[in-house]
Amino acid sequence: MTLVSQIFSCTRCGYCCHGETTVSLDANDQARMVAALNMPQDDVKEKYWRLTGRTVQMKTPDGHCVFYEDGCTVHNGRPWRCAEWPLHPSILSDENNFHTIADSCPGIKKDVGYDKFCQILRKLMDVSVIKC
Ligand code: SF4
Ligand code: SF4
Repeated sequence: MTLVSQIFSCTRCGYCCHGETTVSLDANDQARMVAALNMPQDDVKEKYWRLTGRTVQMKTPDGHCVFYEDGCTVHNGRPWRCAEWPLHPSILSDENNFHTIADSCPGIKKDVGYDKFCQILRKLMDVSVIKC
């Protein structure tokens, strides 16, 4: 069993990809997504992004991220915040964050218990293991 699988296993429920807004994309996210889609940036912008001032997010047709279709269809080009979720560092500083995140993500193995969960999460962060 890997370190990650001791505390998290995605059920592909899609909850984190639903809603009327998505995470915002920084410049690196935008470049990585454009490369992954192998399309001109203007086309990606037109087809997939929603711009609010200087904030770039993904469009959310039908109440979910434009890339959600029984899973993430831009996996290699997804924003870093998507890649990080749900193993967010804020879990380490406040047990309430652990419970809040666990309540919205069924992939979190909360039965591990908070202390053990944090111990494993710290190890993951130390070795910069990518979750999936
Ligand atoms: S909410 Fe959690 S279990 Fe559901 S798709 Fe997102 S990461 Fe996976
Ligand atoms: S980019 Fe992928 S992981 Fe991120 S919200 Fe969209 S579908 Fe979900």
